[in-house]
Amino acid sequence: MEKEISFRSSAEHYAADACIVWCFDDRFSGLLGEFSKTFKNFDLVKIAGGAKALAGGASPERDFVLNQIKASIRLHGTTRVVLMLHRDCGAYGGSKNFENPNTEKESQESQLTEARRFIMNEVPGVSVDAYFADFDGLYPV
Ligand SMILES: [Zn+2]
Repeated sequence: MEKEISFRSSAEHYAADACIVWCFDDRFSGLLGEFSKTFKNFDLVKIAGGAKALAGGASPERDFVLNQIKASIRLHGTTRVVLMLHRDCGAYGGSKNFENPNTEKESQESQLTEARRFIMNEVPGVSVDAYFADFDGLYPV
């Protein structure tokens, strides 16, 4: 096969500072870039809804995300999991699905708390941080 792009990728193995579960909504990719500057290496699970699948009970999607986190821990010794939900997420029907901006934020905080609790139960010993991403920045929950 012919090479399309010449690029030198590091072949060195690494330890990940975090496994980040982030929504694939590109409006928040810039924020992820800013936030992830604090990490040397991280594993990124970038999926529709971010941490949504980890809240709200058993599902194939929840198993998938949990297994991605466990793979990050197994392969890269990850000790920190970062969970993210954001304003106007299509996976939740967008902001229009909430009564007002405050109820949206409170609902997402509650979802993040549930997702964090699930990961802490499933993967003892890992630290779990949760964040609500808004259009003006990132808020720890
Ligand atoms: Zn989203």
